[in-house]
Amino acid sequence: MRTMEISKFTGCLLGTAIGDSLGAAREGSSEIAEIREIGPRYTDDTAMTIGVAESLIRCRGFDGEEMARRFVENFLREPWRGYGAGPPRIFTMILRNGRRWDEGLDRELYPGGSFGNGAAMRVAPIGLFYCDEPEKLREAVCGASRITHSHELAIEGALLQAHAVALAVRTRYPDLNREEFLTQVKGVVRSEVYREKLDAAGELLDRRADRKQVIQRLGNGVEAPNSVPTAIYAFLASEDFEEAVVYAVSLGGDADTIGAMAGAIAGAYYGVERIPLRWRENCENSRYLEELAERLWEASRVRSRGDRSS
Ligand SMILES: [Mg+2]
Repeated sequence: MRTMEISKFTGCLLGTAIGDSLGAAREGSSEIAEIREIGPRYTDDTAMTIGVAESLIRCRGFDGEEMARRFVENFLREPWRGYGAGPPRIFTMILRNGRRWDEGLDRELYPGGSFGNGAAMRVAPIGLFYCDEPEKLREAVCGASRITHSHELAIEGALLQAHAVALAVRTRYPDLNREEFLTQVKGVVRSEVYREKLDAAGELLDRRADRKQVIQRLGNGVEAPNSVPTAIYAFLASEDFEEAVVYAVSLGGDADTIGAMAGAIAGAYYGVERIPLRWRENCENSRYLEELAERLWEASRVRSRGDRSS
């Protein structure tokens, strides 16, 4: 049990970094193209995923203030990771102006808040940590999203991604039932836009649609509704880890983030030993990511033991 679970946690974090680095290697080209060699660096998606994992380990669960501090510190150490326009401005508000993490600071930058995929792209460690506690998972995802993304669609996108990761961890390889997986993740979203996209994903899977149709119906943009269902689709449309991330990145658009999210889900299902060795060896900071995955697994066990005894 222990070995299999750690393999899945490690597959998820390494899968995020590999999908991200593969997408980053496309260097913004928008056409449909398959690439198979990862770039030397991951981007903000993985840097922030690391921040989420570090914070969950340190606090043995979600703590919004500490997680926001971790984001700020990690950003200051590596500001060159390719962060979008919003988060660094929010980090400045927290750092210099002493603003609170839960004020919905993104609303000062975007009317109604941001519905970008920035909350979903980093959420995988929460899906791992609370993989068998859907209520706690929901609470933690909502809080973690709100630090930078308070729009309902951004939060729902993060919930969808976190649940997909949680379900992938709980699904023993090779027992994946694709239809069942879609039905289950659809159960966590309420907005019409996500429900429609997940229905579309099911239809596209059935008729083995070509990439142009997939992009047209699911999207490949930076908005959460135009990228989270796409990442889930890439996982379900593939037969192994490599195919899932190559496919996700081949769709272009916000390729590093769609690659990172598909990589997180696929890694959580297939486990680290089914990730191609050349990618594991060439992935930036792979040792640290492996160590983080093991510590996250240990922290999640300690917490669930604590819950049972209290
Ligand atoms: Mg990025």
